[in-house]
Amino acid sequence: IETKLPKVGTTIFSVMSQLALEHKAVNLGQGFPDFEPPQGLRDALSRAMNEGRNQYAPMHGTAALREQIVLKVGQLYGRQLNVDTDITVTSGATEAIFAAIAAVVRAGEEVIVFDPAYDCYEPAIELQGARAVHVPLTVPAFAVDWQRVRGAVTPKTRMILINSPHNPSGAVLSSADLEELAAIVRDTGIVVLSDEVYEHIVYDGAQHESVLRHPELAERSIVVSSFGKTYHCTGWKVGYAVAPAALSAEFRKVHQYLTFCTFHPAQVAFGEFMASNPEHCLDLPAFYQAKRDRFRRLLQPSRFKLLDVPGGYFQLVDYSAIRDEDDLAFSKWLVQHGGVAAIPLTPFYENAPGTRLLRLCFAKSDATMDAAAERLCRL
Ligand code: PMP
Ligand code: GLN
Repeated sequence: IETKLPKVGTTIFSVMSQLALEHKAVNLGQGFPDFEPPQGLRDALSRAMNEGRNQYAPMHGTAALREQIVLKVGQLYGRQLNVDTDITVTSGATEAIFAAIAAVVRAGEEVIVFDPAYDCYEPAIELQGARAVHVPLTVPAFAVDWQRVRGAVTPKTRMILINSPHNPSGAVLSSADLEELAAIVRDTGIVVLSDEVYEHIVYDGAQHESVLRHPELAERSIVVSSFGKTYHCTGWKVGYAVAPAALSAEFRKVHQYLTFCTFHPAQVAFGEFMASNPEHCLDLPAFYQAKRDRFRRLLQPSRFKLLDVPGGYFQLVDYSAIRDEDDLAFSKWLVQHGGVAAIPLTPFYENAPGTRLLRLCFAKSDATMDAAAERLCRL
């Protein structure tokens, strides 16, 4: 059959996880914790299933969970959301991103994305008959060159998709970045889609600059988050989208026919757990900073050069002192001969710049980190 997505194959995350299994490698590729979600959250989930919360959830998410999101967003970002109109609980951030793009972007329009970009953005754009316009981030800071963004805006630009903390680099946007973005979209019909799935994972005392802190941007933005990242349960696939009422209404038109609603017991569990453990999100930066710092210490004797990690749970490393080959070749060699699975950056680009960088996930237990570092330090 004639494919609608000729450029799409199996994602690099599945490919590398499969290779890790085949070669019995330590898997620092696909981004997921190798430790369990909090016991109280798991208990709340099984309680919800045993107490009869097993049928369809309300389409927009349970009221109790949306109330917790209202509280969190109010406390952290100073924005008062309307519990009925502004929040939609989704089947992971992936569903929210797809629904946002499908709801807003028409055939023939353009969406600006920053390269390297997380892999689910472009296929969602192309399925609308629209076009992704790729603006490269600067190297090696992975910062946005706003002059280039201005140059990429055309009358067809319908959306700008930002991601902070950024996957794969960990770069974070500053409040000055948000000011630049606001100036570009002011007096246009451009909608901002802000992928903030790592919102609670920022380091060294920095604060996450959510679009929800910026009243002008928040009025034209859909902000997406993921409980998978925040509560160590990527397999549960629960996330949410926040947008002002009119945008939410459009978003919900897609959501109701894409999935209708999201796994009910998990929503009950998150609602309960957030209410009784509001400190979980606040503790997350220190929790992951300890992992980041430990992982970096372990890799210090290796021949990998470590890039800075301001946020997220990925460490970029430059491997050019070890082998002179592109990142796809090096990551295959590493999983076969070095016993560690990592993610190359090339699949995150339209035109990869040929940097010698790999992404390593440090959302891992001490034992996993030790085993990986021991192998990486041998190379
Ligand atoms: N956006 C980014 C930047 C991600 O890293 C991920 C998860 N890897 C997602 C979206 C998707 O999140 P979820 O698993 O909740 O669908
Ligand atoms: N977001 C995860 C990562 O970047 C992967 C999710 C997936 O496998 N689709 O590694």
